[in-house]
Amino acid sequence: MCHSQAPSSFVVDPATQQLIERAHNLNIDLVWDRGPLCEYAHKGQGGAAGLCCFRCQMGPCTLGGATGKNRGACGATADVIAARDLVRRIAGGAASHAEHARAAAKTLKGVADGTITDYDIKDHAKLHALYTGLGCTGMNEALAVAEATLNDLGRDEGTPAWLNYKANSERKQTWAGLGILPTGAGAEISEAMHRTTMGVDGDMVHLATDALKLGLVDGYCGMHPATNIQDVLFGTPSVKFAKAGLTVIDRNKINLVITGHEPILSEKIVDAVEEYNSSHSLKINVVGMCCTGNETLMRKGVNPAGSMLQQELAIVTGAVEAMVADVQCIVPNVQRVAEKFHTKIITTNPHAKIAGVPPENHIEFKTEQAGAIARQIVQIAADNYSNRAASRVTIPAVPPRDIVAGFSVEQIVGALTPLNPGNPLKPLIDNIVANNIRGIVGIVGCVTPRDTYGYRHVTLTKRLLEQNILVVGTGCWAHVAGQYGFLTADPAYPHVGAGLKAVLSAIAQANNLPALPACLHMGSCVDNCRIEDVLNAVAGYLNVKISQLPVAASAPEFITEKAVAIGTWAVDLGLFTHIGGQPYISGSSNLVGVLTDAVEGLTGGKFYVETDPEKAAETIINKVNEKRLALGLSI
Ligand code: SF4
Ligand code: SF4
Repeated sequence: MCHSQAPSSFVVDPATQQLIERAHNLNIDLVWDRGPLCEYAHKGQGGAAGLCCFRCQMGPCTLGGATGKNRGACGATADVIAARDLVRRIAGGAASHAEHARAAAKTLKGVADGTITDYDIKDHAKLHALYTGLGCTGMNEALAVAEATLNDLGRDEGTPAWLNYKANSERKQTWAGLGILPTGAGAEISEAMHRTTMGVDGDMVHLATDALKLGLVDGYCGMHPATNIQDVLFGTPSVKFAKAGLTVIDRNKINLVITGHEPILSEKIVDAVEEYNSSHSLKINVVGMCCTGNETLMRKGVNPAGSMLQQELAIVTGAVEAMVADVQCIVPNVQRVAEKFHTKIITTNPHAKIAGVPPENHIEFKTEQAGAIARQIVQIAADNYSNRAASRVTIPAVPPRDIVAGFSVEQIVGALTPLNPGNPLKPLIDNIVANNIRGIVGIVGCVTPRDTYGYRHVTLTKRLLEQNILVVGTGCWAHVAGQYGFLTADPAYPHVGAGLKAVLSAIAQANNLPALPACLHMGSCVDNCRIEDVLNAVAGYLNVKISQLPVAASAPEFITEKAVAIGTWAVDLGLFTHIGGQPYISGSSNLVGVLTDAVEGLTGGKFYVETDPEKAAETIINKVNEKRLALGLSI
C-alpha cells in the first residue's frame, strides 16, 4: 500500500488484519502487496496524469514532465489525450452497467415469452409501474418492459424510454439544452470509442460533453433498468437482518462464496443451497461478496462476507469449498490463492474466464437451465468439502457484526408511513427543514488498496453522521460500513449527532424496532439509481432542483471505471460529487477545471477531488450548509 493516511491504530475489522497476516505467513501476496504500482503516480506523470496516449502506432506519446513534450506526434495536446482517455473509461463503466441491464432484460423477456421457466415475476406491482412509466403497450407487460429496455440498448435515435421515465422534467430540459441527451447504449458507447480514436475528436470541451452524455447512458441504459427489472424478477428489497464480515465463513459448514455483480445466477444458487440443506445434515453456508453479495443480502438476507478487496482473504480462511464468480470486480488472483488451498473457483459467464481455472470449473450459466446449473455448482462445493484440510483452516475469533439492510425506496417509504400514513415523505422533509437532518449524502463505490482498509469510508461516514447528515450508501462502502458497525441497529447510535439520532429513534419506535442502523444500506452499485428516486421525490416535494438540495455524493475509495461513470451521472443530476482521487486527468489542468468548476454552470453539479477523508468531510459539510442557507434553512 502506498502512503496510508490512516493512524496506525486504525482498524475496520480485526478479522481482516488477522487474515492478511495469515496470508503473509503463507507467502501469499494480496492486492495490497501487488499494487498500486505507483512510482509514476506519485510524481504526477505519465499515464497516471492522463498524459500517455496509445491510440495509434505513431505513439506511444507521453507528454508533460516525464518527456518535456506538450504535443503528441499527431499534435494532440494534454487536454485532448486526457479527455479521450476519460471518455473511454466512462464508456467502459457504462458498458458494464448496460450489459448488466441486458442480462436482466433478456431474462425477463424469456420469462415473458415462456422460454425461461426457472424464474418468475416476484413483484407484479413494480412490473405494472414500469410498464406504465415506460409508456409500454400490449397485453404482456413483462414482454413489453423487456423489449423497451432492449430497444434502449440498441436505440440509435430518440432518447431512452428509461430516461424519459425516470429523470425529472427539469433535468431533461437541462440536458436537452446542453445537447447531451443520449440515444441508446450501443450507439453512444460505439460513438465514444470512435470519436476517441486517433484523429477524430480533438476538442477537449467537446469530449467532456460526451463524458456527460455517457454518464446518462450509465444511469438510464444501465443502472435503472438493471435494478428495476431485478426487482420485478427477484423482489423489491425490504428490511433484512444478517451478519457481516469475513467470519460469516463457518468452519462447521460447507462454505460457498458468491461474488461479482449480477444476481441472476446467485439467486438460483441460494435457492439450490436451501434445497440441498433441507436433505443433508452437513449444511452449506452460502455467503456473498462484492455487489453480488449486496444483491443477495438486500433480497434474500444472505450474509455478506466482504468487499472486492477481501476476496482473496476469504480463500485464505482455508474453509471455502467454492467461490462462484459472475462478472466484474473479481480479482483474477483468486485462482492463484485458491491453488494454495482446496478452494475451487467456478467461473460462469461466457465473457469472464480466469486463467488457471480448470475447464471443468468454467460452468457457463444459461438462464434456460438456471436451476440445474445452480444445483450442479452447489454439488461441486459439497463434494469438495472432503478435500478441506482442517489443519489449514484459520477463521479469526472475531464475531461478525449484526446488520440491517434492504433499504429500497419502497422500504424507506414503508418505514416512514407509520409516522404519517397520508404523506410519508413529510416527516423526512420536516426534519430536514428543522435541521434535525442537516442533509443527505450518498457514499458509494469501491474500496481502495491505496489506504488502510476502509479508512476513508469510515472516517468520512463518521464525520458526516456526527454532523447529523443522513448517510445512505451502496457498493463496497456497504461492506466496510457493515464490518465497522454503521449498519448495526444500536439504540446508542454511536457517532450519530443528536438531531439525526432522534429522527432515527422515532422511525424505529414507530416501526416497533429497538433501533435503526446509523446508515441506510441501499444495495449494490446499480442500486445507486434508487438514490435518484429519493432525490426526485424530495426535490419535487420542495419544488426545487436536485442541485439546490442539501445533498451530495461521495466515492472516497473509487477504483473502477463504473464508479467514474456513476460519478459523472451524479454530476449530470446536479450533485456535488466527491471522489477520493484524480481519475487520471491531473495532467490537463483545463479538463480538471471543466469537471471541478465550469460544469457547475451547466448541470449544477461538479466533481470535487480529495483523498483525505477529514478534509473531504469538512468540504462536504460546508457545501451542505451552503445549500441550506440558499434555501433559507438554518444551519
Ligand atoms: S493518437 Fe496522437 S498522441 Fe496518441 S499515440 Fe497517436 S500520435 Fe501519439
Ligand atoms: S463497489 Fe466498486 S469494487 Fe465494489 S463491487 Fe462495486 S464496482 Fe466493484
